[in-house]
Amino acid sequence: MTNRVVLIGHPVAHSLSGGMQQAAFDAEGLDIRYELWDRVPLELPDAIAELKGEEFVGANVTIPHKEKTVPLVDKTTEDAHATGAVNTITKDGKRLIGHNTDVAGFNVALEALVGKQKMPRQAVVLGAGGGARAVVYGLIREGFQRVIVFNRHLHRAEGLTRFFARSAAHMELRAMPWHESVIEAELAKAKVVVNATSVGLRADETPVPAELIPPDLLLLDLVYNPNPTRLMREAEAAGCTVMGGELMLLHQGAAAFELWTGRKAPLDLMREKLEEGIAAGAAGAADGEVAAEGPAADAAAGPAS
Ligand code: NAP
Repeated sequence: MTNRVVLIGHPVAHSLSGGMQQAAFDAEGLDIRYELWDRVPLELPDAIAELKGEEFVGANVTIPHKEKTVPLVDKTTEDAHATGAVNTITKDGKRLIGHNTDVAGFNVALEALVGKQKMPRQAVVLGAGGGARAVVYGLIREGFQRVIVFNRHLHRAEGLTRFFARSAAHMELRAMPWHESVIEAELAKAKVVVNATSVGLRADETPVPAELIPPDLLLLDLVYNPNPTRLMREAEAAGCTVMGGELMLLHQGAAAFELWTGRKAPLDLMREKLEEGIAAGAAGAADGEVAAEGPAADAAAGPAS
């Protein structure tokens, strides 16, 4: 019986996790197939329940389901509990265990972005979904003293800051309305900016107009396909140091691989596959295709359940 690991999200066709994880399973001689399951929110409970089947080793969970998955698993680990978001599921018999490997992935990316400089203490986070929760938790753990969260729907950013109220009691964590003048003022005060919205994923759009971006920011865009995103291009042109989401994706994926298999992840191979997927997406975009429909996404797509 071939074992199965699935990625549950909506959309999923843009994802590069399939190519990366399948290559890692194959290289380790594991009979596991990584499948992409595109499921709308109403279908999420059934998709999660289906994982109890014997052939399933576990799952990844992505946009927009990470928070809604928390009450659907039997147990959450510390990072999933602390963030209120699940991106990886493992199994203990039929019991489903929810993890959050985005936190570890984010911290690797943040450290690489900051490099040899002193770790800054002020950040702006754009977005308040599942990815933003891992980012905010990672910033709190890293010792940031002021983190401002902007979200299109303010109530979600307020919910996020309330969720972290206790772990952020020693610092300033605030939700602010998505007004360009307010964003501009906060960007001028911050050193680190993280885009945790999905803007830029489906079209060549940016969450922040170029004229609001000051030079010298350290900018991390969680969107990894396409790379670079419009936000990254415009921030770089303004003089910022920029990074896309691929390093975070690589390390959250490596941590998930290790949880499913108990083996050390073949990091170099996974990085290579990720780079191939990004390059294929860029080539598709240059040919006038949508990046998410490049050959890597096709190769990664397994049969729907
Ligand atoms: P999510 O829970 O669905 O949240 C989506 C976020 O994007 C929300 O804050 C939403 O705001 C915002 N948004 C969507 N459309 C918008 C628009 N037109 N204008 C302004 N804001 C908009 O998704 P998620 O899981 O947090 O993922 C968010 C992004 O991060 C995705 O692109 C995902 O691929 C990426 N990500 C990457 C990694 C990585 O390893 N690189 C890890 C995690 C996530 P509202 O609440 O107002 O709708």
